[in-house]
Amino acid sequence: MNVAPIFGLSLALLCATAFPQDDKPAGCLVAHFKGIGLRTNDDTQRARLAEEWLRRNISYCTKEQVAAIKSNSPDWLGTAHTHDVNMIIDASSEAKAKGNPTQMAGLYASLDKERKSTTENIGTPSAEGLSTLTKPAMPNEPIKEPYPAIPTPIIRPPSVPTGNLPNPTTKANSLRQDEISICLPNEIATWSDGPKDTKMLSTKMVFVYDHQGAPDFISEDSAFAVLQASASSWDPCGGSNAVVLSSKMDNAFTGLKVAVLWSDKDKLGTIGLANISNKTLTFSPEVFQKLKDINTAKNLPAKYLLETLQMTASHEIGHFQGLSAHSKRCVDVLSYYSVGGAKCNVRGNGAMAANFYEYRSSLPTACDIERCRAANKN
Ligand SMILES: [Zn+2]
Repeated sequence: MNVAPIFGLSLALLCATAFPQDDKPAGCLVAHFKGIGLRTNDDTQRARLAEEWLRRNISYCTKEQVAAIKSNSPDWLGTAHTHDVNMIIDASSEAKAKGNPTQMAGLYASLDKERKSTTENIGTPSAEGLSTLTKPAMPNEPIKEPYPAIPTPIIRPPSVPTGNLPNPTTKANSLRQDEISICLPNEIATWSDGPKDTKMLSTKMVFVYDHQGAPDFISEDSAFAVLQASASSWDPCGGSNAVVLSSKMDNAFTGLKVAVLWSDKDKLGTIGLANISNKTLTFSPEVFQKLKDINTAKNLPAKYLLETLQMTASHEIGHFQGLSAHSKRCVDVLSYYSVGGAKCNVRGNGAMAANFYEYRSSLPTACDIERCRAANKN
């Protein structure tokens, strides 16, 4: 059966959903939050609803209400008390403590607006920060229409550290570098959140970039350079991936065309989206703007934004190479940091070091390429 795979990478868990509270005015009633925890049996759904409730309402809670949520949510949510849930609650506590709830209200208000606009899409993501829009396909579950397709995930927002610049230790840095450059036997693992890997869409692809609609802080030159690096970095898988500006497109560029554009038309709330059937790769100007605001508020270097663009482009182009499910190795460009409360893998069974702006590689890792080659052989 042919599905129409759409792979979205979202900045935050902005899942679209038909959660009944959508039409109610935002507000903080801890009893509602507790109710979600106690009456939703499925843990993935419980995590999703809980995150959604928190993103929508926690900025309206008093300090005491946040404290009540914080101390009770492990009991109320059980296995759905995910890292993301925890992160949202902690961030809220922190904001309240600083006596600056409005800043947070502003942040979540804009997310709400985006999410509201997508309520007809039914969301799902599991519990990841990444997000999404589609029904998470369980391993053996056929993907049914009208869900756009594959589980989308939620790519968690690049973990923006509070306080100082990210400053991973030398040891953590070198472990990450090793994980990027060397793929150990049997190390490849996915979340099984998508169909089986397939051959790439075409062994010769041309990504046609249209800069129109891009945020003004991203120049055409830099976006083009980023795309070229991402596209060519997948060539070792066996195909050829060229990039051309739409204004320079002509017959000399042969191969399957994939349109790369900036648009929030679909309001999916994802930072990037690979629509395999339509052959489009979309970046979200809104989400990048949001990310820029967050980075600016944290005094993070402007280059981080381009690194996120690089990672997003590499991730989405990876879907066009035939890789459908997301990787369980934290460092892989195709990774999701967590799904359904479970955490991604770091070599040596350690936890993913927290003080990276982004642990995930900006370009495909040795394991991403090896997995891609395996999917494309014969
Ligand atoms: Zn993806």
